Amino acid sequence: MAEKKRDYYEVLGIEKTATEDEIKKAYRKLAKKYHPDVNPGDKEAEAKFKEASEAFAVLSDADKRRQYDQFGHAAFDGSQGFGAGGFDFNSADFSDIFGGIFGDMFGGRTRGSQGGPMKGANLRTSVRISFMESVFGVDKEITLNLKDPCPKCGGSGCKPGTSPKMCPKCDGRGQVVFTQQSFFGTVRNVQSCPDCGGTGKIIQDKCPDCGGTGYITSRKTLSVSVPAGIFNGQSIRLREKGEPGTAGGPRGDLLVEVIVSPHPVFEREDYDILSVVHISFAQAALGGSVVIDTVDGKVVSDLKAGTQTGTRIRLRGKGVPAGRGSNVRGDHYVTFVVDVPTKLSKEARDLLKQFDAVTGDTLSEAERVEKGDGKDRKKGFWKH
Ligand SMILES: [Zn+2]
Ligand SMILES: [Zn+2]
Repeated sequence: MAEKKRDYYEVLGIEKTATEDEIKKAYRKLAKKYHPDVNPGDKEAEAKFKEASEAFAVLSDADKRRQYDQFGHAAFDGSQGFGAGGFDFNSADFSDIFGGIFGDMFGGRTRGSQGGPMKGANLRTSVRISFMESVFGVDKEITLNLKDPCPKCGGSGCKPGTSPKMCPKCDGRGQVVFTQQSFFGTVRNVQSCPDCGGTGKIIQDKCPDCGGTGYITSRKTLSVSVPAGIFNGQSIRLREKGEPGTAGGPRGDLLVEVIVSPHPVFEREDYDILSVVHISFAQAALGGSVVIDTVDGKVVSDLKAGTQTGTRIRLRGKGVPAGRGSNVRGDHYVTFVVDVPTKLSKEARDLLKQFDAVTGDTLSEAERVEKGDGKDRKKGFWKH
């Protein structure tokens, strides 16, 4: 037994008052989603597609829609060719729908069929630069394979002295309409012509230099000017250095992605530079001055007596240039880390012990606590 058929309006998800356009739109959406070409082997999608197609076939036809509105599914019971044998899809205007949907979706590009100038495709490549080059800018050379119109045939692909003939399969239109037997009947479909690849032309005598493609590929070296302050992953556009255009159209662009190698000392945060500088315990305690590496070279900076680990200072204007030709630069932030010595000579150990004895005698504190010595400076703490 067949299951109860769903209401056609419900199938398409539209109101009873839907306009022709709304019906088309709703079906287009469903067909795109459930088309068997998009869901190969998916029985559920196939059923949904069939259901939507049937609903569309009826509702897109004013007469059938009227009958359906009046009698429901009973209007098409057997007698009118909608019986179990199959639904009459030929009468519905599918070519419009499928041309629109599947022309866009499956590479049915119209380029060439009109013969008008088309811009060539963009190309992508990348270049690696050092951190310092990213800060101050650099000119780099990149080498890549680029297509050019074949000089022998001028890009036509034909042996000089010959010319292409119009493709007999598509009559030069570049597209073919064919009917397809499918699970629910016959569907008219529009596709790029398989014989001429959508160009509308057939080359009989191929140019010996380019083999009929109309292009030759050669290794080219291009100069890329990388501006100061560029970020890792940013792309530079070289106009009209991409694929050649067709029929006199301009070349596409070349997009060069800039990869910045990390630096062993400097890190970047927007237009600021961050680094960590190690200082000795004596430097930290006594202060004075400290030598700091910046992207401009070594600078001497004041160091406050009693600098703690984690203290951050700012070196104004020692960061990354902010924008092309700008004199404004970010800042350089230095975080100090106080190093604890790990290798000490006997002399250094003795001096440290002396140092300790005059700065709180911390080395013997535990011993004093164990003895219950009244001089324990933490005793007060324990009473609370
Ligand atoms: Zn050629
Ligand atoms: Zn053709």
